Amino acid sequence: MNKLINPIIMALLLIIFPACKEDKTPNDFTTARKQMVQRQLEGRDITDKAVLEAMQKVERHKFVPPNLRNMAYADRPLPIGEGQTISQPYIVALMTQLADIQPHEKVLEIGTGSGYQAAILASLCHQVYTIEIIESLCEQARIRLTNLGYKNVYVKCGDGFKGWKEHAPYDAIIVTCAPPEVPQPLINQLAEKGKIVIPVGTQWQELKVITKENDKIKTSDIIPVRFVPMTGEEVEKM
Ligand code: SAH
Repeated sequence: MNKLINPIIMALLLIIFPACKEDKTPNDFTTARKQMVQRQLEGRDITDKAVLEAMQKVERHKFVPPNLRNMAYADRPLPIGEGQTISQPYIVALMTQLADIQPHEKVLEIGTGSGYQAAILASLCHQVYTIEIIESLCEQARIRLTNLGYKNVYVKCGDGFKGWKEHAPYDAIIVTCAPPEVPQPLINQLAEKGKIVIPVGTQWQELKVITKENDKIKTSDIIPVRFVPMTGEEVEKM
């Protein structure tokens, strides 16, 4: 009798708790990533071939905590520790597409988090500078990106509000935490004809694209978004 009941109970448990299933194999992850690109990105408004290729190439499951790997390609943000999140794949692709990154360019990211957005950027351009304010996340991202073989990403622990003056100007700046207003140092460190992609606001934010041409600043509103807040003493002074 027991011999029959046990498999039935196991099958029921697997239906009720899909997370109990064995971990996905590398092939499963490749398939999940293909589906993510087709359904969540091409199925929406991501048309930039280079961005789609980068999203297909970078192994997002290597940037999430091991217990969440099976959800790495879901259409949602995921926790990465310290109360922070890795953005939804669509938002990463949208921000990258809006930044219109070219192979010879130098890009600054504020809010390294897991390092995933930095890895996507590193697949598309010459050099990526990225800043993370939480020391432990910063160190983990630096190790992760090194272990995965990214040689064109430079990770700094500090307050991204101030940008990274030594390597400015940047052709694009992507901000993945939300300040209440656009930090002036980032505008100053943007190259002529460069673009800043940034969520601005408090509870809910507007994703904005800021361009600089002949020293004139233009702003376009894209969509409402929800990011973790930018922290640090500079934001607190605002
Ligand atoms: N781009 C990340 C998502 C990060 S979530 C990824 O791909 O995983 C936003 C990150 O911004 C958090 O890790 C948070 O600690 C960081 N952050 C918040 N305020 C910051 C600041 N002033 N400077 C740098 N990083 C900041």
